[in-house]
Amino acid sequence: MTVEFKGLETQLIHAGEPRPRIQGAVSIPIFQSATFECSDEVESKQDSYYKVKYIRLNNTPNHQVLHEKLAILEKGEDARVTSSGMAAISTALLTVLSSGDHLLAQRGLYGGTYDLITKDFPSFGISCDFIDGGDPDSWERKLKSNTRAIYAESVTNPLMQVGELQALVEFAKAKGLLTLIDNTFPSPVNFRPIELGFDLSLHSGTKYLNGHSDIVAGAVIGRGELIERIDHRLAHLGGTLDPHACFLLHRGMKTLALRVKYQNQSALQIAGFLEEHPSVARVNYPGLKSNAAYQRACRWFDGFGGMLSFELKEGLLGAKRFIRELRLPVEAPSLGGVETLITRPATTSHSGMDAAERQKSNISDGLVRLSVGLETSEDLLDDLEQALNA
Ligand SMILES: *Cc1c(COP(=O)(O)O)cnc(C)c1O
Repeated sequence: MTVEFKGLETQLIHAGEPRPRIQGAVSIPIFQSATFECSDEVESKQDSYYKVKYIRLNNTPNHQVLHEKLAILEKGEDARVTSSGMAAISTALLTVLSSGDHLLAQRGLYGGTYDLITKDFPSFGISCDFIDGGDPDSWERKLKSNTRAIYAESVTNPLMQVGELQALVEFAKAKGLLTLIDNTFPSPVNFRPIELGFDLSLHSGTKYLNGHSDIVAGAVIGRGELIERIDHRLAHLGGTLDPHACFLLHRGMKTLALRVKYQNQSALQIAGFLEEHPSVARVNYPGLKSNAAYQRACRWFDGFGGMLSFELKEGLLGAKRFIRELRLPVEAPSLGGVETLITRPATTSHSGMDAAERQKSNISDGLVRLSVGLETSEDLLDDLEQALNA
């Protein structure tokens, strides 16, 4: 049904769209119906786009177009959308892990994922050890006879580290482990982890995929057989995306490439500016030549993303004053939207971690995280400069 499109921009607009268009509609209408007629008469004359049953089963036309589009974008066999990024992550992990299993997870994970693994999984009989994504020699020591999977993030939050992803895939394949990766930060525009050999790619669609800070959504992309198992579990855990949110996610995704490419450019400029500024102690951005992961990021990524973090020489007090003086960035958690957002991860995304654990992970209280939006880069640079000099 789908025509093949080579370019990512073209895929974003056209891949997965129903042919013929439903009632000729250029933009897929919202199928806000919990259930659908399934009489013999209806089923016999309709193509697959009409073989819909129930919203919780993720199979309205609004879901189907997203599943096909996401699979094509990241070169997976199949995909599912979910009601949040955490729904995608928890459902995928609870599909590949059972009671008695052990997980290896990269250190420096998104706070919600870290909490899920460390606080919720023990009561399900699932254990975990953390590994340093940049130190392959240390992985074997953490392996157990019941280790089933490795969980990583393409770019870790909030320190923007890029692990030895290729070595991770090779290690997992040699040991018969499944590999899952949270690809939220790069988005399919900058990185497609399935091409590198990962089994499952996960997204918080709340962030870049949707890009407008107005819905919560998630996605999982991968091999057909794995997605089928996830689909089954998703139907029972119930983390389905509502059709209206599907519609908004779909609309947001059409401009993903334009947005992310602009954000790549703007963030690189800002990271360079901050690195040169005398009040700034350290900038974390994989696109800086000074960054430990620069070579890796260049090898695998088509862009370095819109996320960066940094510390001021004046530490926490300096960070608080700096944020107060800013006029453009909104002080809010989350990321990947059209507006620039700024937070201190110690008070938002990583507040669930206790202070000692945060310190061990190098997340200082004064660390500032910036999600670069679509404002004019010069306006952002001017604002950052006046706030730094205030
Ligand atoms: C936000 C985020 C999540 C969680 O996604 P929700 O949509 O908020 O559930 C997971 N991973 C990363 C990297 C995120 O930034």
